[in-house]
Amino acid sequence: MLVGVLGGGQLARMLALAGYPLGLRFRVLDPAERPPAAELAAHVCGRYEDPDAVARFAADLDVCTYEFENVPVETASLIERQLPLYPSGTALAHTQDRLAERQFLCGLGIPVARFVAIDRLEELPDALSIVGTPAVLKRRRLGYDGRGQAIVRSRGDAAQARAWRTIGGGPAIVEELVPFRRELSLIAVRGRTGETRCYPLVENHHHDGMLRSSVAPAPDVSSRLDTEARAHADRILGALGYVGALTIEFFEHDDRLVVNEIAPRVHNSGHWTIEGAETSQFENHLRAIVGLPLGSTAPIGCTALVNVIGSTPDPTAILCLPDTHLHLYGKTPRQGRKLGHVTARAPDASTLAARLAHLRRLMPGDTKGHGSCEAR
Ligand code: AMP
Repeated sequence: MLVGVLGGGQLARMLALAGYPLGLRFRVLDPAERPPAAELAAHVCGRYEDPDAVARFAADLDVCTYEFENVPVETASLIERQLPLYPSGTALAHTQDRLAERQFLCGLGIPVARFVAIDRLEELPDALSIVGTPAVLKRRRLGYDGRGQAIVRSRGDAAQARAWRTIGGGPAIVEELVPFRRELSLIAVRGRTGETRCYPLVENHHHDGMLRSSVAPAPDVSSRLDTEARAHADRILGALGYVGALTIEFFEHDDRLVVNEIAPRVHNSGHWTIEGAETSQFENHLRAIVGLPLGSTAPIGCTALVNVIGSTPDPTAILCLPDTHLHLYGKTPRQGRKLGHVTARAPDASTLAARLAHLRRLMPGDTKGHGSCEAR
């Protein structure tokens, strides 16, 4: 079976790595000359907006998916006219625009931070009087890893103008800064038959808007919170008639969950599943989209993930640690760039905390010391 992936980054690369044992083959569409997945998949080099490139990419594919939510909806529609696209173009449309995403979630009765949509800087003062300060200003489209967003700390003109410049102007949304206890995420997978499975909630640590580390399963999750997260996932998957892996990022606040973002794809906070779960998020996404039964999402012990950002650690030192695994994406090092990740696994939380402390000392500057990824 030939699987097409829109986007040839590390997510497509890890999808291909998970798909080969299932006998799947891959083709990716990506405008970069040598994207990370090109070493493992046939690569059509072209823009997502170019109908000729899309036609070359889509020819004789059995099924198509995407690794990022900023694929143009028109491209998704073009593909859907020829072959199955999972998740659907509708899922893309609901998640690539922060306003559409929040309206969709509110329509399902799922809590999000208080927000106001604005198109121009002149509308910001009124919006701030509704959501209060500090607030977070976010571009509606094309923001990721904290890009396209800025904190507005005060209602002064200069602070507002600065934040507006930082995000590069509207259309945008302004939302309250949630004083969360911690950030959690849930990855749910739904197969073609509607069969649904969820991985355990994961605790995530961000710095400058970028994920630095995760602990799975998240410590101290009450059964109420767990049930709430799964109920939100079920409602979203059902409403979209979803097929594939879906990620929901939450803020935990006052023992409740507020959704920050949903991503119609496998996710960085799920990379731990490669070694830390009975079936990885990548394999389960593929099983879902090709119509195979889903695999168990049960965790194997406790796992931590630390992203490799900017520069690579000494592989020998990392791989000397017990049950620790290095994944490099084949990217040229650059400041702030995700180059890979390390997964450390342990039979219990206290052993994991010790392994993690050791691992952190071996990580280079960009990656080190952000958040307290302690397994409690
Ligand atoms: P996002 O690009 O929306 O996923 O935001 C990246 C990170 O910025 C999140 O993981 C949070 O750490 C932080 N953040 C975003 N929105 C808010 C908010 N409304 N309140 C508090 N922190 C936020």
